[in-house]
Amino acid sequence: MDTRAFKRDLNHSPNYFRRGFGKQKEAVATLNTEYQSSLIQEIRDNSYRLDRGDTTIFLAESFGFCWGVERAVAMAYEARNHFPAERIWITNEIIHNPGVNARLQDMEVGFIEVKEGEKDFSVVDTGDVVILPAFGASVQEMKLLDDRGCTIVDTTCPWVSKVWNSVEKHKKRQYTSIIHGKYKHEETVATSSFAGTYLVVLNLEQARYVCHYILHGGSKEEFLGKFVNAHSLGFDPDRDLEKIGVANQTTMLKSETEAIGKLFEKTLLEKYGPVELNAHFMSFNTICDATQERQDAMFSLVRQDLSLMVVIGGFNSSNTTHLQEIAIEKGLVSYHIDSADRIGPGNRIEHKPLGKAIEVTENWLPEGKIAVGITSGASTPDKSVEATIERILTLKETPVQY
Ligand code: SF4
Repeated sequence: MDTRAFKRDLNHSPNYFRRGFGKQKEAVATLNTEYQSSLIQEIRDNSYRLDRGDTTIFLAESFGFCWGVERAVAMAYEARNHFPAERIWITNEIIHNPGVNARLQDMEVGFIEVKEGEKDFSVVDTGDVVILPAFGASVQEMKLLDDRGCTIVDTTCPWVSKVWNSVEKHKKRQYTSIIHGKYKHEETVATSSFAGTYLVVLNLEQARYVCHYILHGGSKEEFLGKFVNAHSLGFDPDRDLEKIGVANQTTMLKSETEAIGKLFEKTLLEKYGPVELNAHFMSFNTICDATQERQDAMFSLVRQDLSLMVVIGGFNSSNTTHLQEIAIEKGLVSYHIDSADRIGPGNRIEHKPLGKAIEVTENWLPEGKIAVGITSGASTPDKSVEATIERILTLKETPVQY
């Protein structure tokens, strides 16, 4: 499919909205009432630190709701007001936050169910309104909804669209897109749908494998076995790794994306030499500002003398998981929770260790003086962070007084 032409036509459709409905300020005001926190503001004003009794809370200097998420949720609120009588659907969780998604369900915004690994669009009728989430939707989904005569409210973050533009540039010049991301993640699924030939690499280790193949060849069967479901149809490593463009899921670990980009550049330089390099390699910086800021703030935070870390965000949130990785790499005890309700009753916490299933840890808060680092992913409202801090302080028997 000519994805550029399709997007161009969609942009001109009277049933396609990607800039809201002129009531963004009102929607953001509602959002702030529901999700902002006076305690968090107090901590921000106190150099991101709160002292209560034996407990010191250190908050990351950048955390929580990013611009793109705030914009997407505000647009969903606006859509509900603009289409009070229509049935409204979202093709996926609007963001990876259970509380925000539950709130939208309260507003009678339905979620498209996934059945046997496929989204079930049979519930969507002509004239229904369908919201595309902040991390986007595949071009095939957009086409299906457009063909069905739905009204599309597209909240895709402009940072994500920027990556789509990058892979379309690769496609136009017949470069293979190497996408640093998780092939099953909705954003990467969407990005892949705009690419021509592509390969998704999860991490530096997989990138090294591909680079070794570029320089030294190897077993095609083994290669394809390693990247099952992570490449375009008919991908051939012997043919499709000569011209490469690097792109990424916007929420990957910035340092890893940079290292992967440099590794491919170095590999193609070694294979084709400096004069030919530009004919074989292209790269654009597409890590979003919010992701960078949150990761940088996390690197500063873990330099403090912390007893432990608490990272708050959806368990399927990529950017939150990367914040957790930074804490683990630093050797800190770190608990990833998706809501304050995971804490208690008593001194217990239900959390998700990196790459493992949810588990319960008893007596997780040590006795005596402690310093707790706190951060949250880009989909987490301040109210969730506030509730987490309150539970920690209550457990340490120093409830917050307003
Ligand atoms: S994390 Fe970045 S790309 Fe994702 S919604 Fe926020 S601003 Fe957009």
